Amino acid sequence: MLTGKVAVVTGASRGIGREIAKTLASEGALVVVNYNGSREKAKEAVAEIEEAGGKAEAAQCDVSDFEKAGELMEYVVKTYGRVDILVNNAGITKDGLLMRMSEEDFDSVVRTNLKGAFNCMRHVARQMIRQKSGRIINISSVSGVLGNAGQINYAASKAGIIGMTKSAARELASRGITVNAIAPGFINTEMTRVLSDAVKEGAAAQIPMKVFGETKDVAEAAAFLASDKARYITGQVLCVDGGMAM
Ligand code: NDP
Repeated sequence: MLTGKVAVVTGASRGIGREIAKTLASEGALVVVNYNGSREKAKEAVAEIEEAGGKAEAAQCDVSDFEKAGELMEYVVKTYGRVDILVNNAGITKDGLLMRMSEEDFDSVVRTNLKGAFNCMRHVARQMIRQKSGRIINISSVSGVLGNAGQINYAASKAGIIGMTKSAARELASRGITVNAIAPGFINTEMTRVLSDAVKEGAAAQIPMKVFGETKDVAEAAAFLASDKARYITGQVLCVDGGMAM
């Protein structure tokens, strides 16, 4: 159970982030539901949590902005006195082949996915060190583990998250803080709904379990890593991918 814990989930207005927020709240955590543009969806996520008896608040912040990420963490600490769990889930894709990828599409994906996670970790670390406890969970991707044609920018950002996770885990382990990554495979969300049927069929064929995962599959893994049950696990990459990256 996560009763009394304060969690921040970035990009929690929809998809995997929303499910992680709901799952952490259902286990007793107070959840700050971060979003960037989707205010109504974030409010919807908060309403769902409250209807189920949980506690949550929506908080706007573009995590790719270093200062703004700092303001978000400062607000949470000022309001709730602590941050026990940070889930860096906010992410975007701007797919394209290497030969056609623009500099802007490379930069914006790395800025949101990789630097966004850095920004939040950077601003939460001092508080967690003060608390002598904390759980950081970074959402990577099977693309960052295996690489993926058409996702040079995204795969770089997600592989970067793995390196950053392991480095932070080494730095923070003696402070009672664990840092782990989850690498989801193909999960049914808006991110994958836009794929053509042919791409979806091709993707499913590469998955030993032959089907896409659901947001709940990732959320349960996050809840486990956030719990006391995972106290001796740090610096790991947990693949939630139906066997793709074994
Ligand atoms: P969605 O596109 O459904 O949701 C993305 C979320 O990220 C939204 O809540 C969005 O908020 C938020 N977001 C985007 N940019 C920012 C930003 N700059 N600051 C704050 N929030 C931001 O994605 P998924 O749920 O599918 O993916 C969630 C995570 O899981 C991502 O990191 C993704 O890379 C990863 N993943 C997903 C897989 C999949 O198959 N779906 C597979 C592997 C990894 P808003 O709408 O308010 O902008």
